[in-house]
Amino acid sequence: MKIDLHCHTYYSDGQLSPEELILRAHNMQLDALAITDHDTVAALDEAMAFQAQQKRALKIIPGIELSTGWHGFDIHILGLNIDREDSVFQQRLEQQAAARQERALAIAEKLAKCGLDDVYDAACRYAGKGQITRAHFARVMVEKGHVHNFDAAFKKYLGKGKRAHVSPRWISIDEAIQWIQEAGGSAVLAHPGHYDLSGKWLRRLIVYFKQAGGDGMEVCHPHLPPDRQRQMATYAQEYQLLASAGSDFHAPGRWTELGRHLNIPAHLTPVWHNWSSITNDNNKEVLS
Ligand code: AMP
Ligand code: MN
Ligand code: MN
Ligand code: MN
Repeated sequence: MKIDLHCHTYYSDGQLSPEELILRAHNMQLDALAITDHDTVAALDEAMAFQAQQKRALKIIPGIELSTGWHGFDIHILGLNIDREDSVFQQRLEQQAAARQERALAIAEKLAKCGLDDVYDAACRYAGKGQITRAHFARVMVEKGHVHNFDAAFKKYLGKGKRAHVSPRWISIDEAIQWIQEAGGSAVLAHPGHYDLSGKWLRRLIVYFKQAGGDGMEVCHPHLPPDRQRQMATYAQEYQLLASAGSDFHAPGRWTELGRHLNIPAHLTPVWHNWSSITNDNNKEVLS
């Protein structure tokens, strides 16, 4: 069973349409794919409708990646296997969209004060009908030659404590878990190895997440050296969190691909163990 539970479309900061993403998942021989855009479910209807017309089987898992704030850190919580039509959930997302829009305007003001007044409109054009993210700002800043590369845009302007950083008004971890679970989904701590946290603080985060009622954590995600990956698996076992795995695919590139290196260690319980869409009779053989 080849499964990838974390990726983005152009409804947030991914570069592919839902259709392009699905065709790529077919090429990569995936059996299941969770689409998890930042703070929006806008891609899901289109993705489900498109996959329904395809000959090749692929289970689309409706998902989301919620932005939260915890002790001044941006922490991402995945909602997997959610009911995308849940109207309470959709209403709640409007609050996040408003926080995004408000922050984008404040970033634009700060950039303008640094002399970069040609970024915001172009970033909005890139975001199109999707959620605007700092990645859109960064892309424009590279194209206009304000910075040498994507990472430098964060290091110089957009990152925490930098010249155009604006503290976002995200929801708390507790709220994210509640929103996801009330929409029928599993709440999963995204890319725990990616936060700029010391070992002590990472453990604190995982304990906090577990005590707040979180369901699982990503134990396989990109840019995680083998020893760190073993560490994540140990945390999942120690705190009895279900295990998830995702590529966090945003765009085709040399280092990122759907479904690559995502094998969950056999002693952990995968987050999908009780999802009927995956563990139905047809699939039992493949799973055992
Ligand atoms: P936002 O959710 O608007 O804060 O945008 C953050 C997004 O920018 C993340 O989801 C990443 O996809 C992307 N990103 C790329 N490089 C960095 C970086 N160095 N720091 C933060 N975000 C980054
Ligand atoms: Mn992103
Ligand atoms: Mn993330
Ligand atoms: Mn992501």
